[in-house]
Amino acid sequence: MSRIPVRARLTIFFTLILALILVAVGLSVASIARNRIQSDMDDRLFRTAADVTTVIEQNFNVQSAFGPATLEQAVPDLGAFTSRGLLVQVLDADGAVLRASEAAPTTPLGDPPPASGDAKPAVGIAKTSAWTARVVNLPLVLSTRDGDQIPIGAVIVGERTDTLEETMRVLEQTLLLAAVAGLVLAAVGGYWIARRALRPVDAVTAAAAAIAADPEMRSSLDRRLDVPPARDELQRLSATFNAMLDHVSAAFSTQRQFLADASHELRTPLTAIRGNSDVLRRQADALPDALPGIVPVREAAADIQRESERMGRLLEDLLLLARADSTAGGASITQRTAHVRLDDVAAEVIRTTQVMADGQDLRLDAEAVTVSGDRDRLTQLLLVLMDNAVTHTPATGQITITVRCETDQVAMISVTDTGSGIGEADQARVFDRFYRVDTSRGRRTGGSGLGLSIAKAIAEAHGGSISVTSAVGVGSTFTVRLPGCSVVEATAGDASSS
Ligand code: ADP
Repeated sequence: MSRIPVRARLTIFFTLILALILVAVGLSVASIARNRIQSDMDDRLFRTAADVTTVIEQNFNVQSAFGPATLEQAVPDLGAFTSRGLLVQVLDADGAVLRASEAAPTTPLGDPPPASGDAKPAVGIAKTSAWTARVVNLPLVLSTRDGDQIPIGAVIVGERTDTLEETMRVLEQTLLLAAVAGLVLAAVGGYWIARRALRPVDAVTAAAAAIAADPEMRSSLDRRLDVPPARDELQRLSATFNAMLDHVSAAFSTQRQFLADASHELRTPLTAIRGNSDVLRRQADALPDALPGIVPVREAAADIQRESERMGRLLEDLLLLARADSTAGGASITQRTAHVRLDDVAAEVIRTTQVMADGQDLRLDAEAVTVSGDRDRLTQLLLVLMDNAVTHTPATGQITITVRCETDQVAMISVTDTGSGIGEADQARVFDRFYRVDTSRGRRTGGSGLGLSIAKAIAEAHGGSISVTSAVGVGSTFTVRLPGCSVVEATAGDASSS
């Protein structure tokens, strides 16, 4: 049950309750109707039996005035009573049929009156192979002058129950049909209403899922739910969720602002440390080697200089990311926008990387292509990708930069290496800030985990995107796509390989 969504659970619950109510109401209506029809029928039967009895008694009395009377002579013609479609029989004291109406059978439909004379009218059921009838048995009792009650026979009036059963069947079918239609309507309508009512919950779920799936929470935190006008629980849920988003969003921008401010504030002291460490190192190097304790001093000065340079790079990266965060799409990090020859940028990056490569085969496969962008930032982006490729590719490996116009609208730059590759689970996270696949190896290679975040920020600041495909042990391809692309005429530039 817990796997079934709330809207379905509500619908099932209410439909079951409605089904119970409908069954109870249906059974009551059917039983009340049957009782009512039967009691009408019984009234009719009793009245007819009483009429016949009255006629017999009158005849008997008339005859008695002239001599001994017999029941047989006193029984009237029953034709007048059968017009109502009734079965009428007059039985003698032994239970034999003295006279029967046209439709009535000749076999008795009821018992003879008890000999004791203590006879009471009775209602019963009589069955033949063809039909069932409801019968009223009214004993004929003669009162003597001594006050004795002598049973002399019985008047039996019956009516076939066909019509009653037919009426009941139609009624039951109508009730069943109405109940089924009601249940279907209730289930469909209930589900629809429950779904509509729970829509704000779906919106909250979707908003929360979007925030959970967005590692940088840049755009997802700006989203707000529509607050429904009805002042109900769902309105409060949406309003409360929005208020929570306001808080989280405020906390998030405070954190961003803090990062930006801290990086900025640390710049000046760091510049001083770097300057002083430089002086310190030069001074230490100038001192004679024979001076006691000079070696650890020189090592310490070199460490300070190396680490402060590393810290400087980290601060620049953090500042760049903070600036990218401060505007929608990170546009503020692209300052000098111009036509940039991507093949030139790629060739320049290859030359720079060659210096730090361990001997890997660096190749360029570039069409002469321009995009509109910030040349320095695009160079920085490609340097990040090449730096990573060199770090993760053995000396015997190959690294290729490819530059193409994928379409008129899209320029494509990719860096393909034959290095260690990235596992599938990590591929989705390598663009996250401070994320390193293997921390121990990452530290050894000096990475901070910010390189690809910066590459991504630069690509997005140009309205583009970056993606990775990789197989462990085979290599990786990082692909950057930028909007707008024009191929330069053959005379103006040429595709080259190095
Ligand atoms: P880092 O400063 O550690 O290089 P990045 O953000 O540039 O940080 O990269 C994140 C992680 O992605 C790295 O730690 C590395 O493990 C992995 N990675 C990046 N590029 C490659 C590559 N070309 N081949 C294999 N792994 C890579």
